[in-house]
Amino acid sequence: MATAKDLQNLLYRIDGRGYPAYKEIAGKWTFPSFVLFIDHVQGDPFAAPSRLRAFLPPESAPFAEDLRNPRERALGVEWLLARRFAGEARKAGARRGSGKSGMLEMDRPGQEVLERTAVRLLPEGGVEARFFAGLPAAGRRILGRQAAEMLLHDLPELVSRTLLPSAYPPDLLRLHAETNQDASYLRGILKERGLVAFAADGALLPRRSGVDDRPLEKGAVSFRSPESLRVEVELPNRGKMTGMGIPAGVTLIAGGGFHGKSTLLRALERGVWNHPPGDGREFVVSLEGAVKIRAEDGRSVAGVDISPFIRDLPGGKETSFFSTPNASGSTSQAANIMEALEAGAEVLLLDEDTAATNFMIRDHRMQELISREREPIVPFVDRARSLFEDLGVSTILVMGGSGDYFDVADRVIAMEEYVPKDVTGLAREIARRIPTGRKAEAPGPMARPAGRVPARESIDPSKGRREVSLKSRGLHVIQVGRETVDLRWVEQLVDTSQTRAVGLALLLLWEKVLDGRRTVAEALDYVERELAEKGLDALDRRRLPDLARFRRFELAAALNRLRTLKIRPPGT
Ligand code: ADP
Ligand code: MG
Repeated sequence: MATAKDLQNLLYRIDGRGYPAYKEIAGKWTFPSFVLFIDHVQGDPFAAPSRLRAFLPPESAPFAEDLRNPRERALGVEWLLARRFAGEARKAGARRGSGKSGMLEMDRPGQEVLERTAVRLLPEGGVEARFFAGLPAAGRRILGRQAAEMLLHDLPELVSRTLLPSAYPPDLLRLHAETNQDASYLRGILKERGLVAFAADGALLPRRSGVDDRPLEKGAVSFRSPESLRVEVELPNRGKMTGMGIPAGVTLIAGGGFHGKSTLLRALERGVWNHPPGDGREFVVSLEGAVKIRAEDGRSVAGVDISPFIRDLPGGKETSFFSTPNASGSTSQAANIMEALEAGAEVLLLDEDTAATNFMIRDHRMQELISREREPIVPFVDRARSLFEDLGVSTILVMGGSGDYFDVADRVIAMEEYVPKDVTGLAREIARRIPTGRKAEAPGPMARPAGRVPARESIDPSKGRREVSLKSRGLHVIQVGRETVDLRWVEQLVDTSQTRAVGLALLLLWEKVLDGRRTVAEALDYVERELAEKGLDALDRRRLPDLARFRRFELAAALNRLRTLKIRPPGT
């Protein structure tokens, strides 16, 4: 058994040698309170940093049973540990030479609590942490003493300050465990209560800025449910709580500009993920199957049946098997809806700010000017009811611009200075008094789209001499082989580590799943099953430190945005 002391001797011995000699430190080293695994040693000081793991057995990191189980509780605690480790690592890391020398880094969680590979509380006790280190060098010469200082002194200190239960006030650990469990529980009871979303009284929805996801500090108006929509829930830890329950059906969020409509919708979009204590949105949750829909002109579309929304395009272009490298605002939005339905969406979330106007409304006067025969679009206003009645798919729609929606809404919420009011009665009365004069344009009921079957060649990860090349850049870009997937408008993708994981899932689809017979939905089921059984490591055997869990909808979004996606035409 190699010990920390052995590692130190080795580092002293290779001091001053060329960088490749670092390869010798790969492997397992037993420290007094943890085991250090050096999984990957970087090739030079400027390359991607080395990957390390610290494994703390239950005796070293005795997290209480109720912090580890059930899994939802552990996830809350893991968020806290990863945040703390990431923050402290940045401070502990020091420039110790060239390139990334001396850097210590952990994938830092944002304002969502996601299953991640960075920190894992083990069900039987103990912790595993994964992180990056830049092994020190001067130029390309190993700085063995610096490395020893870093791995044998700084790292154990970092571990003891961030990965042991004794490093935290017990109440804080419990708060994180309980909050996360409560949020998941709350999401879990929505359906039986007939709800699709819930926002707690007292929640804080606005964020600091468009690029800063922390809660707005000054002048934030806390959420307060209208009386008529207020429901009481009982959470396992918090006990009784009240808030606005949004029932299944068609819900309109109206209100004047700048009164907080989009802020509410955005919180509901993010409500598919849990949030840590102090975020303000801990108890704002939506069904996991809630999918944001927007216009996304310019995206490619492959073999999607958009005929429920768009028919008879100019030039006789087929819309029951619609493909284009460059969709318009309305066709992209129609494709986004049909793809979401195919992946199993239960709720559609739309905001007029990011929707195509002609996709959303077509008023009486316009119907008179441009006859049905010359307008390919069946506007969403003529589909929202049927989505719910025929398919059970609810809609939550921000719409301050058209009262035509009063006729199809089950309820209308008006935001007034950031406070929601139930104005359903008033909207009904107005709808009676002022008929729109519109003719409904939907040609028939909605049906779930038939399953599309992607060809395996849809994904080709090869690039030059490399058989497999995969890179992800930031939150929005995945490069598979020579293809670039643009996820800029996939708004419920919230973490760069999710993006990395989605990229790997595309590879998994290519490697094991797409066979010219499986449908998109079946392929998504396959990946979800793998993740449920084996966790994120099912996506990559290298024990990567920076992966986070995504939903089937994010993977579907990436697959559907591949410009090389090929769908087998129906009946062939
Ligand atoms: P709308 O969609 O109705 O035009 P937004 O949701 O975009 O309005 O909100 C307008 C502004 O008000 C944003 O800068 C937002 O951060 C802020 N805001 C939203 N909700 C609140 C709130 N509850 N308290 C304080 N400020 C808020
Ligand atoms: Mg808005």
